[in-house]
Amino acid sequence: LSPVQAYRQQHEVTATGDNVPAPFMTFEDTGFPPEILREIYSAGFTSPTPIQAQTWPIALQSRDIVAIAKTGSGKTLGYLMPAFILLRQCRNNSQNGPTVLVLAPTRELATQIQDEVLKFGRASRVSCTCLYGGAPKGPQLKELDRGADVVVATPGRLNDILEMKKINFGQVSLLVLDEADRMLDMGFEPQIRKIVNEIPPRRQTLMYTATWPKEVRKIANDLLVNPVQVNIGNVD
Ligand code: ADP
Ligand code: MG
Repeated sequence: LSPVQAYRQQHEVTATGDNVPAPFMTFEDTGFPPEILREIYSAGFTSPTPIQAQTWPIALQSRDIVAIAKTGSGKTLGYLMPAFILLRQCRNNSQNGPTVLVLAPTRELATQIQDEVLKFGRASRVSCTCLYGGAPKGPQLKELDRGADVVVATPGRLNDILEMKKINFGQVSLLVLDEADRMLDMGFEPQIRKIVNEIPPRRQTLMYTATWPKEVRKIANDLLVNPVQVNIGNVD
């Protein structure tokens, strides 16, 4: 067994697709800039989680991914680190709209994701706005007006803001669907599709899900281009 095969076997990683790169088994393997690594080490992390190890090198190749892994596996930094690397390379004027868009099912999740963006993105000077329902639109629109590299949003509220023409997706180049299965369970599929239709087609799309039922397969098939599928454990 090669070290890569041994790693995948030990951590129950399966990756299906064309020329899947080897996982980053250590943080040093990532080649992330020192100031990013410093944030990671000061959080007390010692090695990438298996989902991070296997999806980081794929995401850094600008490829689409569908990742199936259970809660608590470190998916958030799994997509945020490649987002930060992208933002360091492609600094759009955030006044003209976000470069990275993250969709999440609930307000709680969206704010947790924003917290991680602000914590781990500080070294990369990443700005972030969070949009969710159940709160007045005014303050969220005001914050959006100040510009944000990353917008984290629930599909309902984002779709409302989109219909009000208060957000421009022209420079979105990375779209993340976090907890896709839960968003579909909550009935957000029409809003997700309307949002995605406004994003330039030449984007990278990363989809995360804990389960892999046919509704999720269908939307993955519609929104992702030649994705690499990464499973951690025997989730199905
Ligand atoms: P998921 O989205 O898969 O449920 P999270 O991204 O919320 O998982 O991460 C779960 C917890 O693990 C968080 O507290 C996060 O800070 C922590 N974590 C993330 N990456 C690592 C790592 N490489 N090593 C240790 N802990 C990590
Ligand atoms: Mg998560």
